[in-house]
Amino acid sequence: MKLLRYGPPGAEKPGMMDANGTIRSLAGMIPDLTGDAFSPNTLAKLAALDASTLPEVPAGTRLGAPTANPRNFIAIGLNYADHAAETGAAIPKEPIIFLKSLNTLGGPNDDVVIPEGSHKTDWEVELAVIIGTYAKKVPANAAMDHVAGYTICNDVSEREWQIERGGTWDKGKGADTFGPLGPYLVTKDEIPDPQDLAMFLDVDGQRMQDGSTRTMIFDVRQLVSYVSHFITLHPGDIITTGTPPGVGMGKKPSPIYLKGGETMRLGIAGLGEQAQRVVSDMRS
Ligand code: ZN
Repeated sequence: MKLLRYGPPGAEKPGMMDANGTIRSLAGMIPDLTGDAFSPNTLAKLAALDASTLPEVPAGTRLGAPTANPRNFIAIGLNYADHAAETGAAIPKEPIIFLKSLNTLGGPNDDVVIPEGSHKTDWEVELAVIIGTYAKKVPANAAMDHVAGYTICNDVSEREWQIERGGTWDKGKGADTFGPLGPYLVTKDEIPDPQDLAMFLDVDGQRMQDGSTRTMIFDVRQLVSYVSHFITLHPGDIITTGTPPGVGMGKKPSPIYLKGGETMRLGIAGLGEQAQRVVSDMRS
């Protein structure tokens, strides 16, 4: 099942995508994609609906992030062996956790704004996990019970602010529009092996990232368990699980960063695609 949110920013309604790729409204069924909507019971009820009986939403309607009110947007750093290598970083012994501001969240095809004063805005295609049920200190072998499904995150990053300005990475990860999420949440039953998904990111048609979740250092199961020992997870929370090689920072002979007017297109097998126009904040 593919669950999504459609409509203008701040006024999205819940929906699903049917087998023909048509958006169907769930507005009469659940209040939004939040809280109990992610529970196994509600997901089973929604899966049992005959989608053809639900109101059709016009093609081309804007999509929002497929989780309405997450408490936590957690990200994992350097979680791909081949990405750690391209950045010259050592393989982490334990997962690196950082937080993305909830202000970053946006729809999968919303503009990404290069913030005022930024010269090193970069891209990161990532598999994001959406939590289904309350998870506190869960063992790895029970972690998947707490997962509702998966979606795509572009973990947009300002490298100077992340790496050269001291302190935590969060400064370079938290600008408005730096967290496109979607296009939809694919429930976990449709993704039997989250550790074997091809993923890519193009900038203006040029392939920049071409990887697979196979090269993750810590897998989804381990990450959900690990994070839950430090930060209690609630339904709708997001864990974005790191990026494969090909980020702008790692390009040879010299790094490549985003410029206004470019378009990013990114996708993960079974999870659809995103496309974002890059807009420069010209106030600087
Ligand atoms: Zn990342």
